[in-house]
This record gives sequence, C-alpha cells and structure tokens, in this order.
Amino acid sequence: ETFKDLQLRPELLEALQEINFVKPTPVQAKLIPVILGGRSVVGQSQTGSGKTHAFLLPIFDQLKIDVDEVQAIIATPSRELASQIYEDAKQLAGHFKDQIRIANYVGGTDRSRQERQLDKHQPQVVIGTPGRLRDFMEEHELDLHTAHQFVIDEADMTLDMGFLKDVDKIAGALPKNLQMMVFSATIPQKLQPFLKKYLTNPVVEKI
Ligand code: AMP
Repeated sequence: ETFKDLQLRPELLEALQEINFVKPTPVQAKLIPVILGGRSVVGQSQTGSGKTHAFLLPIFDQLKIDVDEVQAIIATPSRELASQIYEDAKQLAGHFKDQIRIANYVGGTDRSRQERQLDKHQPQVVIGTPGRLRDFMEEHELDLHTAHQFVIDEADMTLDMGFLKDVDKIAGALPKNLQMMVFSATIPQKLQPFLKKYLTNPVVEKI
C-alpha cells in the first residue's frame, strides 16, 4: 500500500513525494482511514512510529481552505515537540496554492508578537503547549470553539507534566461532536477518566 491508495488531496501527495514518503508506516496505514472517517482514535505508539503524519495528513486532507477560523488544535507537552510538528505541518501545507495558516504557540516565548498576529487573523491549524493554548483561549485571543478536531500528542507526558487540566479546559470548550485523536506510548490509568469524558466510541490501536 502507498499513500496514493489513501486518496489524499493531490497537494498532499506532492508534499509527500518531496520528502520521499512512499509507503505509510503501520500507524499511518491503520489510523489515516479511520480519522478520515470521522472517528475518534487512541493511538498507542512510540515516537518514531510516524504518528505525526498519521494525524497531520487527515487534518490537512479535510481542512476547509477558504474557512477563516480555527479548525484543528494539536496540543503537545514540550516546545521541541511543538516546533517539530509545526515544521512537518508547514511542509505538508507547502503545495497548496492558497496559504494555509498554521500557528505555533508555546510557553516561555514572546507573547506580544503572537498576540499581534492573532489580531489580524485566526489560524486554521493551531499547534502548541497546553498551558499557552489555554491562556490564549481564556483571554479570548484564540477563538478555539470552532475547532472540530483536537489532537493530544504524548498524552502520558502531558499527564506527567501536569498539563491534563489545561487540555481538559480546552476540550470542555469545544463542540460536542469533537473528533479527538490521542497519541501516547502508554495509556496510564490516570488518563482513563479524560478518555471516557471526551472520546465517544473511539478506535483504539496499539501499534
Ligand atoms: P514520528 O513518529 O512522527 O516522530 O516520525 C518518525 C520519523 O519517521 C520522522 O523522521 C518522520 O519524518 C519519518 N516518517 C514518518 N512517516 C514516514 C513514512 N511514511 N515514510 C518515511 N518516513 C516517515
């Protein structure tokens, strides 16, 4: 099976060709069709499994290019992970004619510059650390309530770092028909109440 068989938008296939991605990794082959079908997912997989593209590709495949509001949120517990996802997202968006607006908001960085950008336009895809995303949401800088896809990357680390309450606040402000994508190397017991609260009948894949 190749990425062509997944019938992704041609702009995405071009972007994948540019970085020589031909075959989906197992986590991508399993979860991309499920996410495209609208189900919430729990992907239990390690870093290095290709999980980033497993959620970015269906997000960009379904993005409404002409809709000027936040459509997908990706929360990740560290700045380094956020900038890695941001770089991958920009690469995937690179072949669309109209620019897709992607933002990266992480703690410990210049707030005022990010706030000035937000005055002009809401991004369509938001990546960031949970604390900063929550702050921007609560201060009405970021209009997250239009998002219908929410990725929790490295959920176990998110829990360990005390970010679960921030993720919970964000998820609680989003529409009820939210599609959740939770990725984690392990699924600790302490994560279960959160999963029960926000994921309806999810597809759980251990890869
Ligand atoms: P991740 O688990 O998302 O951090 O990805 C691990 C590494 O695998 C990254 O360097 C990706 O760029 C790379 N990668 C992800 N998917 C593929 C693929 N389908 N083919 C080749 N490399 C990939």
